[in-house]
Amino acid sequence: MPKFAAGVVRFQTQVFPEKRALFEHLSAGQAPEGLFITCSDSRIETAMITQTEPGELFVCRNAGNIVPPHTQFTGGMTASIEFAVAALKVPHIIVCGHTECGAMKGAMNLEGLDGLPHVKEWLGYSKAAVDIVKELGKDKSDAERMKMLLQQNVLLQLVHLRTHPTVAMRLAKGDLRLHGWVYDIKTGEVLASDDVGTFTPVSERYAAEFKKHSY
Ligand SMILES: [Zn+2]
Repeated sequence: MPKFAAGVVRFQTQVFPEKRALFEHLSAGQAPEGLFITCSDSRIETAMITQTEPGELFVCRNAGNIVPPHTQFTGGMTASIEFAVAALKVPHIIVCGHTECGAMKGAMNLEGLDGLPHVKEWLGYSKAAVDIVKELGKDKSDAERMKMLLQQNVLLQLVHLRTHPTVAMRLAKGDLRLHGWVYDIKTGEVLASDDVGTFTPVSERYAAEFKKHSY
């Protein structure tokens, strides 16, 4: 039996009974606090990083935590964003990139992706971030350029999010907030962007709100 299938049996016999009330409650509906957009990378565990329970985050994942700008073409991200924002009315959207991201490494070197035509085309949605880094990071080390790209890509996808009509409308109403994060796989650090695109640790970025809500 594959490990993940054995895990289902353990979930049903050991974990589920302890949370039976939660799952019964959730069977009636969902009201997640946020739409969490992150990379498909297997090393990211959204519930663990955010310490959230089932029902608290509506999660969309793809290679490179990318949000294609809105067009008339219907894609999986477009439909999921529309549903989360217009139907579930999530109050927050988080775009979360991460260190060691294979997609972002590929975006910096698209020529190396000739055998992966769909990945190559998909990473075209990160082109503006790559161009910024190639210009502003000319004199920096590869590691510094990658750090810059992870942040610029998150900021770019937040710009793309604003082109989705449901997002634009909720932002205009003032009841939706966008967040740009980068998660460090090796250290557990999560950096969050402020309104001008400067990234600081989550504990600092949200310090005033943590205090207010006594989290
Ligand atoms: Zn990734």
